[in-house]
Amino acid sequence: MPNQQYDPYQNVCTVVRNAAKMLGYPENDYEAILHPERELKVSVPVMMDNGNVRVFEGYRIQHSTSRGPAKGGIRYHCKVDLNEVRALAAWMTFKCAVVNIPYGGGKGGVVCNPAEMSENEIRRLTRRFIAMIAPIIGPDTDIPAPDVGTNPQVMGWIMDTFSMLKGHCIPGVVTGKPLELGGAVGRNEATGRGVTLCVLSILEELGLKVSQSTAVIQGMGNVGSTTAKLCSKEGIKITAVSDVSGGIYAPDGLDIPAVIEYLRAKKGNALANFNMDGVKHITNGELLELPCDVLVPAALENQINSKNAEKIKAKIIVEGANGPTTVEADSILERKGVTVVPDIIANSGGVIVSYFEWVQNIQSVSWSEDYIDNQLKEILGRAFSAVCSISREKSVPLRTAAYLIAVKRVIEAKKLRGIWP
Ligand code: GLU
Repeated sequence: MPNQQYDPYQNVCTVVRNAAKMLGYPENDYEAILHPERELKVSVPVMMDNGNVRVFEGYRIQHSTSRGPAKGGIRYHCKVDLNEVRALAAWMTFKCAVVNIPYGGGKGGVVCNPAEMSENEIRRLTRRFIAMIAPIIGPDTDIPAPDVGTNPQVMGWIMDTFSMLKGHCIPGVVTGKPLELGGAVGRNEATGRGVTLCVLSILEELGLKVSQSTAVIQGMGNVGSTTAKLCSKEGIKITAVSDVSGGIYAPDGLDIPAVIEYLRAKKGNALANFNMDGVKHITNGELLELPCDVLVPAALENQINSKNAEKIKAKIIVEGANGPTTVEADSILERKGVTVVPDIIANSGGVIVSYFEWVQNIQSVSWSEDYIDNQLKEILGRAFSAVCSISREKSVPLRTAAYLIAVKRVIEAKKLRGIWP
């Protein structure tokens, strides 16, 4: 239900500008962070299986490198565009800042539909795209990772392509790799694991019992399905889930392991054809408006906007996706008393474990699953508590609190470095 004028980058700029003003910074201090540092647009020719050449448009954008190298995923999706990648890159800057890991923010994307491409075509696209953005990526400059439409195998091809170009093995150029190529244990599930930790923490913060809570999840990709699995293991009743084909709803709770197994076997977006006793089919729009304790949008941007925010019945929204709620929707939700755990904290588990993977790669060491899990809990837990305290102290929503912390860190780093030359 995207509205016509939605501009994701202006959306981020509004939130950042408001936070900088609230912090009392003069415009000179924050003007630079409203502009991405570097943008590269490439035309990627690929020999398709049928012998035809197709040219795909791709981007890599570095929003900020003030606090460290740029960091952020690569998205393969038919709706990727320059302004979306800009916004996604900026969200990475503030995500890394709020959880205090030493990165800036970047993002990449290729306009394509991986569901309609063969594995060989996706591999050739990946290799050529990486060769074309190779001048600006690297373990010290800009480190890609998975996002919508990409996966550990694609990260493996990225690592191989970059290493071949440089003539030696460079695992630290990309994170989210398969374990065999230096991936971190648990990276694949880390974003959903972080979302689940945020769901549990916010239920506790608001005094709601986990075992009596219900949740609705939009999106059954990597983040949505992991969140559904882990939340239902914790005893939360998942009443509805969806993918691009539509949603399924069971007021008494869905059998999540059965749904996940069904999707695994179907290898695609197939919930529209899922049938089981007590399960009703609904649209993605209807799913967002269901009564529940926790709503987890885990698909794309601009899902909760001025058109449907008034109709949201969830008590809490935990943003698994990047940018699912617009600025206009935020004020409506605040007035309605809906608590929103913002994307830059809610889905930060992925980049936190990416950071662990990169540290292991550049030091040639390997950490255990327990160590990684404890470190994730510590970093995310600390950031979550800091955001909650600022929110209480200043009586502002959690998103404002998160940006007050993140924007201050980015601006202070920029000021300490100074404007060069
Ligand atoms: N694409 C993920 C995100 O939006 C992960 C980024 C990363 O691990 O660098 O946070």
